[in-house]
Amino acid sequence: MTRADRLPYSGLSDVGRVRTHNEDAVLLSPPLFAVADGLGGHQAGEIASTVAIEELMAAAPRRADAKALGRAVRSANRAVIEAAREGYGRSGMGTTLTAAIVEGTRISVAHVGDSRAYVYHDGVLEPITFDHSMVADMVRQGTLTETAAREHPQRSIITRALGSDLNMYADTFEVDAQPGDRLLLCSDGLTSMLTDHQISDVLSSYRDPNSTSRALIDAANAAGGHDNISVVVVDISEEIPGVAEGRRPGQGWVGGLVWAFAALALVGLSFLGVYQYAQSRAYVVSEAGTVALYRGMPGSFAGIRLNWVEQETTITARSLDPVTSARLAQGIQVPSVTAGYLLLDEYRELAESLEASRALGSPDTTVAP
Ligand code: MG
Repeated sequence: MTRADRLPYSGLSDVGRVRTHNEDAVLLSPPLFAVADGLGGHQAGEIASTVAIEELMAAAPRRADAKALGRAVRSANRAVIEAAREGYGRSGMGTTLTAAIVEGTRISVAHVGDSRAYVYHDGVLEPITFDHSMVADMVRQGTLTETAAREHPQRSIITRALGSDLNMYADTFEVDAQPGDRLLLCSDGLTSMLTDHQISDVLSSYRDPNSTSRALIDAANAAGGHDNISVVVVDISEEIPGVAEGRRPGQGWVGGLVWAFAALALVGLSFLGVYQYAQSRAYVVSEAGTVALYRGMPGSFAGIRLNWVEQETTITARSLDPVTSARLAQGIQVPSVTAGYLLLDEYRELAESLEASRALGSPDTTVAP
C-alpha cells in the first residue's frame, strides 16, 4: 500500500487463541461500519453475524441518520430470524450488531448486544453504547462493580440480540465528534481482555488505523484471546471517509462480496491472499435447476476465476420451497465447505419432506427442518 492509499479506517477480525471458529463479522463499507458477534455454535453464529451484516448493508441509509440506521438493524434482525426459519443456520442462532455511519464529524450509531462503540477524544475513551448484558444491568443498578462484572461467571449472558424477537429494537445515538477523534467499534473479545485504559493506550500509540487495529488484536491475544476479537477504527475528519459519492453497496450476495473484497483490500492482501481467502470460502447455488456446492467465491478477480465445484447434487431447486429456491438462484454464501455440506444435507431432508407431504396430497407448505 502506498502512502496515498492510506485509508482513514481499518477493521480486522481474529479467531483469538481459544476458539476454533470465528463467529464475528466486520463490515467496512464507508460511510457504514459495523461489528457483529454471532452466537449459536456449530457455525450458526457465523451465519447469523454474516446474514445480519449483509442485510444491514442492503438496508442502511447512506447518511448519518441514527433512526434510519436503527430501522436497518431491525431489518437485519428479521433477516436472521428468517434465515433460521429457512433452515440456513439453526433456530436459536443470534448475533450482536453495532453499526455506525460516519458523515464528516457526525456519527450515528445503532446498537444491540454487548459489542461496543467508543469515541476516543483528547486521550479519553468515551463509550457511546451501553451493553445489553446481565452484568451491565447489575452495574447500572449498583449491585455489581465494574471490576466484579469483568470476572462474573455470567458476564457473557446478553439481554438483547438479533435473531429471536421480531419486536427487537436497537438503541440509537448521534455523536458530534471532532476532527482527530477516533471511532472504535469492537466485539467483547476485545473489551473482555483489555480494560478501557489499555485500549486507550493502544489508540494513542498507533496513528495509522491499520496498525492500530492490528495492535488492538495483538494486545487482546496477548491478554489471553479467550474469544473472537473484532475491531473497526475510523479516524474522524471533516471529510467523509471512503468511496465515491452516491455509491450504494449491492444487495444480498453482491453486498457480501463487496464486503469481503473491502475487507481484503484493507488488510492489504496481495492477489495470492485473495486467492487463498477464496479457497477458504464456499457457496451453494442452483445452476440449470440443480443445487451445487462450490469452494470459492462467484466471479473472478484480476481475470482469474475464484471458484471450483466441490459437489454437484441431484437436489432440484423445484423440490425446495419457493423462498429457498429463489435464494439458491442467487447463491448462498456459507462460511466453509463443511458448512456447505451441512446445508446440502438440510436441503436434501427438506426436499424429501416436501416430497412426502406432496405425496400425501397435503397443501404445499414450507417445512422448517
Ligand atoms: Mg464475543
